Amino acid sequence: MAHEHHDHTGHHHHGASDNIKVAFFLNLGFTILEIFGGLWINSVAILSDALHDLGDSLSLGLAWYFEKVAKRGRDQQFTFGYKRFSLLGAVINSVVLLVGSFFVLSEAIPRIFNPEPVNAVGMMGFAVLGIVANGAAVLRLKGGDSLNERVVRLHLMEDVLGWVAVLLGGIVLYFFDFPVIDPLLSVGITLYVLYNVVRNLRQSMKILLQATPQHIDPKEVEKRLVEVPDVHSIHDLHIWTLDGSYNVLTLHAVVPPALQVEQTEALKKRMRSAMADLDIQHVTVELETTEEKCSHEGPL
Ligand SMILES: [Zn+2]
Ligand SMILES: [Zn+2]
Repeated sequence: MAHEHHDHTGHHHHGASDNIKVAFFLNLGFTILEIFGGLWINSVAILSDALHDLGDSLSLGLAWYFEKVAKRGRDQQFTFGYKRFSLLGAVINSVVLLVGSFFVLSEAIPRIFNPEPVNAVGMMGFAVLGIVANGAAVLRLKGGDSLNERVVRLHLMEDVLGWVAVLLGGIVLYFFDFPVIDPLLSVGITLYVLYNVVRNLRQSMKILLQATPQHIDPKEVEKRLVEVPDVHSIHDLHIWTLDGSYNVLTLHAVVPPALQVEQTEALKKRMRSAMADLDIQHVTVELETTEEKCSHEGPL
C-alpha cells in the first residue's frame, strides 16, 4: 500500500508524522490480514503481495521512527546529527525483504512443478480488497503535486497493478483448472520486490560511499564560483549527501592576498548566493591566497 519517501523539497507539513503513523498501522493491519488470508486460501501469489506490503509497512514504520530520531539534532557523539540514521532503515528493510523473498520463492518454485489447489473466490476477494484500498489512497493523493506525492502515487499505482494481476489469476482459476498460475504470479511479484530491493540498496550504497548527489553537477558549481569576482580558482571540491536530501559542499577558494577580512565576508556571501538554487544545504569554504601553497591542490 502506501509508501513514504524522503521529502526532497525539504519542508515538512504539519501532521506529516501523524499521516505516516496512520498509514503505517493501516499497512501493517492489511499485511497481517494478507498473511493469514494467503495461508488460508493457499495462495502463494497473495503471500508475495503480503511480502511487498510488509516492506511498505516497514519503510513507513522506520520513516516514522527515524523522523523522530533525526529531530534530536547534533550532539557531541554525532556532530553531523542523526539524519544519516535513516540509511539504517533502508538497510533493515532490504534485509527483511531479502529473507522474506527467499521464503516465498522456496514455497512458490516447487509449486510450479506440483501445483496445489487454490481458493479462487478467496483470491478474487482479496484482490478486490487490495484494489479498493490502494485505489482509495491514490484518489486521496490526487490533488498533491510535490515530487514526494508523485512518487507515492506512482508506487500505489504499481500496487494496484499487482492486485489486478492477482484478480485476473483468480478469475482464470475460477473458470479453468490451471493452478500453476498462482505460483507463476507469486514468482513474478517476488522478482519485482527483489528488483526494488536492489534499486534501494544501490541508492543507499551511493550515499554511504559519498557519491555526488545525482542532480548536482560539480562542474556547474565550479563554473559558477569562478565567475564570482575575486575568486581566482577553486580546488578540493567535495559534494556529498548526508541522507539523500541534506547536501554538503566543502571547497578551497583562491583569492587575492590583499583582501581584508571584512571583504572576505562579502565575498563568501556572493559565493553562497551564486549557488543558492543548487539544493546545497551546508557549505564550508576555506579561503587561501594566490601565494599560499596548498597540499590539497590537484585535479579536484
Ligand atoms: Zn506498495
Ligand atoms: Zn587548498
